[in-house]
Amino acid sequence: MSTIAFLNIAMHGHINPTLPVVAELVRRGHSVTYHTSPAFSQEIEAAGATVCLYPGGDRPLPDPPMPVTMLDGLARTAVGLLPPVLSDLRAVRPDLIVHGSACPWGAVAARELDVPAASCFTTFAFNGSVPSPTRASWELLAAAATRPRHVHGYLRSRRELARRYDTGGLPLVDLANVRQPLNLVFTSRAFQPDVDAFDPSYRFVGPSLGARPPDPSFAADRLRGPVLYASMGTVVDAGPQLLRAFATALAPLGGTVVISTGRTDPAALGPLPGNVLARRFVPQPEVLARAALFVTHGGMNSVNEAMHAGVPMLVVPQGADQPLVARRVVELGAGLSIRTRDAAAGAVHALARRLLGEPRFRAAAATLRVAQREAGGHLRAADELERYQRRIGRPIPADSPRER
Ligand code: UDP
Repeated sequence: MSTIAFLNIAMHGHINPTLPVVAELVRRGHSVTYHTSPAFSQEIEAAGATVCLYPGGDRPLPDPPMPVTMLDGLARTAVGLLPPVLSDLRAVRPDLIVHGSACPWGAVAARELDVPAASCFTTFAFNGSVPSPTRASWELLAAAATRPRHVHGYLRSRRELARRYDTGGLPLVDLANVRQPLNLVFTSRAFQPDVDAFDPSYRFVGPSLGARPPDPSFAADRLRGPVLYASMGTVVDAGPQLLRAFATALAPLGGTVVISTGRTDPAALGPLPGNVLARRFVPQPEVLARAALFVTHGGMNSVNEAMHAGVPMLVVPQGADQPLVARRVVELGAGLSIRTRDAAAGAVHALARRLLGEPRFRAAAATLRVAQREAGGHLRAADELERYQRRIGRPIPADSPRER
């Protein structure tokens, strides 16, 4: 059995899909360490890994959260974290490093220690034909022109990284998309756009959704059907006005309407109809298992989870990869999309009625449900990692059979 070190950034969307994989590897007898900030220690320990904390506590998100600030933040974090992370990893002596695609220090550490590495993609896989939101582009250049401090910060950190370490494996710009000879993508081939454009190093393992620790404060069995659920995720502050629009739009159509308010205080939504339950955080997979409709920001994990549950979606993208995700949901017929500025209660109500009333949406969501489940999830991810290790981290040969 081997020692496997996971390295990641501390965000729900990045950590959540890795936890069932960790739990499965531990169950198979591997020893797993997880290197991250304190925010997720409990969940990671519950999955069976030993937590190795980055120094300095939890880190604030880049402000404002946009590609330029994020790339600067990642490069800067890599410079700061590599010395302590390398010293932790030298003590752990991993046989394999598994890092998030937005965790460049994982890739540099693997190279420095000459340990094979795999990367985890919690959004789509990106390449020339499926462009990443953080790639070098005219939009990035235009945004960079307005944020010279972040551009200088990024360049300074990159120079520092190159001076101290072997950064050969890092992309020139897109530090949120660090690839390895094995790339686990937590969605199905059916949902990935232009899937045949990706080489066999990309394994589309589908959503990784092992059991989460129960939340006894949430009585899921008290929800009355049809359950209508809205969440703008854990990163964006959607604000009370938008969330209130969802509540009033959905209340007349639902048994229970559940609103996850995330960064917004539920009290700020004001008085709500009696069948609306607004909380900062809800056990999302449990709610989706009962839901007839999901109003979502189009975060990849949320959408993967909704497809896994076969729930049609109204996608209200807020940024990052969400417009791409929204487009794909609409393209595959599993939902509709609306811009935030158009998402007044009346418009949301009309679209929600269509999504609930027209059987084609549920049928498309049911088709995706099958694809998401057949992709294999966390068990397949663990299989792929073990197979990769047996090949001692060698790349998957180009002539190896593609997945169907
Ligand atoms: N989530 C949850 N309860 C909530 C809101 C979110 O469990 O009330 C989880 C959700 O299941 C998903 C993650 O948080 O796994 C959100 O990730 P996503 O990529 O959808 O969005 P982000 O929060 O990163 O914008």
